[in-house]
Amino acid sequence: MGKIKTPAYIVDEAGLIRNLEILHGVEERTGAKILLAQKAFSCWHVYPLIRQYISGTACSGLYEARLGAEEMGGGNHIFSASYRESEIYEIISYCDHIIFNSFNQLNRYRNKVLNAGKKIGLRINPEFSTQEGHEIYDPCSPKSRLGIINKNFDRNNLYGVSGIHFHTLCEQNSDDLEKTLDAVEEKFGDVLTKMEWINFGGGHHITRSDYDIPRLEKCIKRMQEKYGLEVFLEPGEAVALNAGYLATEVLDIISNDMPIAILDTSAACHMPDVLEMPYRPPLLGSGDAGEKAYTYRLGSQTCLAGDTIGEYSFDEPLEIGDILVFGDMAIYSMVKNNTFNGMPLPDILLRKCNGDIVTLRKFGYEDFKSRL
Ligand SMILES: *Cc1c(COP(=O)(O)O)cnc(C)c1O
Repeated sequence: MGKIKTPAYIVDEAGLIRNLEILHGVEERTGAKILLAQKAFSCWHVYPLIRQYISGTACSGLYEARLGAEEMGGGNHIFSASYRESEIYEIISYCDHIIFNSFNQLNRYRNKVLNAGKKIGLRINPEFSTQEGHEIYDPCSPKSRLGIINKNFDRNNLYGVSGIHFHTLCEQNSDDLEKTLDAVEEKFGDVLTKMEWINFGGGHHITRSDYDIPRLEKCIKRMQEKYGLEVFLEPGEAVALNAGYLATEVLDIISNDMPIAILDTSAACHMPDVLEMPYRPPLLGSGDAGEKAYTYRLGSQTCLAGDTIGEYSFDEPLEIGDILVFGDMAIYSMVKNNTFNGMPLPDILLRKCNGDIVTLRKFGYEDFKSRL
C-alpha cells in the first residue's frame, strides 16, 4: 500500500464478500431476510455487490432511507425515535416497513403508511439488558427512550400494525439473542401471535469467528414456527466487520516519558469510536505495549490532548514516513468522521479482490469549507 495518499480508508472487497457469504448462508438456510444497517456502513459504491448476497437496507432517517432506496434496492426498513411531519411522505416512498417508537407516532402517521400500502411496526423495549458497562449502547438501560415498554404497550391500539421490532444487542453472540427472545416472548408473546413479522434489530456479530450461527438459526426458526412470523435482521457491523483499513503516515516522532509517533490521522476525526466506544483498533504488524521491542504511543496532529489511538509495539523502530495500517476501519468510521481542527477527511479507496486499488472518493478543502 506504499503509493497511497494518506490518510485513506480502504474498503476490502474480499473481506466484504467473506462476510456476505456467511450472511447469505443464514438467509438461504432459514428464509430470514438480512438488511444492511446503513448507519454502520454507508459506502454506497459497494451496495450493488452487497445486494447480490443480502435482502436490502435498514435506515435511521430520511437520508439513509433515500440512499438505500436509490443505491441498493430490495427491502428497506426504517426506525427513528420520531419522524417529522414534513418528511414522512418521502420516507414512506422509500421504505416498505416503517417502525414507530410510540403510540403517539403510530396514531399520527398510521393512515399515511397504510394508504401507501406499506407495513407498520412498533419497536418494543423488552427491558432486558444483556450488556454490561456500555450504557451508551444499551437501549434497555434505565430511562431509555428507545422502544415501547410493556407497561405502555396498548394492546387495544394495534390496528394496522403487522410487525414488532426490537434492538437491544451490540457486538453480541446468539446466546444473548436467545435470552432476549425469552424476554420478548414472556412480555410480548400475546402480541406476537397477532403479528406477521419480527425484526431482531442489529448488534448480531454474525461474521465474527466465534459467533454461534446454528444458535442464531434456531432463534429464527423458533419465531417462524411458533408464531408464523417472517424474520428480519438488520446488522451493521457484521456486514463490513474487518473489511476495511485506515492507512496513515508517521509524520514525526517525539518523546515524553516514552516515544510518541504523530500520525496524519486522528482518533477524534477519523475513527471517533476509538474514543467514544472506547476501543483499541487493530494495527497490522504491531503488538500490545511492551510485547515487541519498540513501543510507541500513537497520536494525532490535532489540538485535543486525548486524541491518541493507544500504545502499540513493533519489531523495528518506527521511522518518519512509515505507513501504518489500522484494521477493521470500514464500520462506524467514514459514516462518523468529521473535520475538527480542519483535518482533511481520508479519501475512500476500494481494494478489489484482484488486488487493484480504485479511488471511490477524494476529499479536499471544499469538503471542510462547504459544511460551515
Ligand atoms: C445500531 C442499530 C443497528 C445496527 O447495529 P450493529 O451493531 O451495527 O449491528 C440496527 N438496528 C438499529 C435499530 C440500530 O439502532
